[in-house]
Amino acid sequence: MLAGKYSTLGAMPTERTFAMIKPDGVRRGLTAEILRRIELKGYRTVGLKLYQIPRETAESHYGEHSAKPFFGELVDFITSGPVVAIALEGENAIAGWRSMMGATNPANAAPGTIRGDFATSVGENVTHGSDSPESAQRELALFFAEGELLK
Ligand code: ADP
Repeated sequence: MLAGKYSTLGAMPTERTFAMIKPDGVRRGLTAEILRRIELKGYRTVGLKLYQIPRETAESHYGEHSAKPFFGELVDFITSGPVVAIALEGENAIAGWRSMMGATNPANAAPGTIRGDFATSVGENVTHGSDSPESAQRELALFFAEGELLK
C-alpha cells in the first residue's frame, strides 16, 4: 500500500537526451571517467559510438550559433578528432545530465561537475548535452540512425 504511494512521489518524466564527449575529452583520456559517472548516476545508455563528426553535421548541430564570432572555431574544434556520441535515458535525463556537466564556462562550473573538475576553457569544455526535449530529439536524430538506438 505504502510502497505504491511512495513509488509515485516525486516521479519525473522518463526522457532521452543526447550527450557527447567532445574531442578534448577523448584526447585527454576522460571517456572512461565520464561513462563511469553516467553509470553511477543510473542513466541507461541506449546508444553509444565513437564518431568523427562530418563538418556538415557539426554546422547543423551548432546551427543556433552560426552568427556568433566563435562559430568557425567551434566547428573546427568539434571536428578535430573523434567524439563519443551517447544516447541517455532516465528520469529527468535532459536537465540531469546538464547538471552533471556544469556551467558552459568552466570558470563558473561547480566542483563535482564534469566541467568544474576537468575543464578550464569555454571552447574546450569536455562534454555536450541537449538543453530541451526539442533539441534532444533533433540531436539524437542527427547523430544516430534509428537502428543504432535501443528500443
Ligand atoms: P552548452 O554547451 O553549455 O549548451 P552553448 O549552447 O551556449 O553551451 O554553447 C555551445 C558550445 O559553444 C559551448 O559548449 C562551448 O564549447 C562553445 N562556446 C559557447 N560560448 C563560447 C564562447 N564565448 N567562446 C568560445 N566558445 C564558446
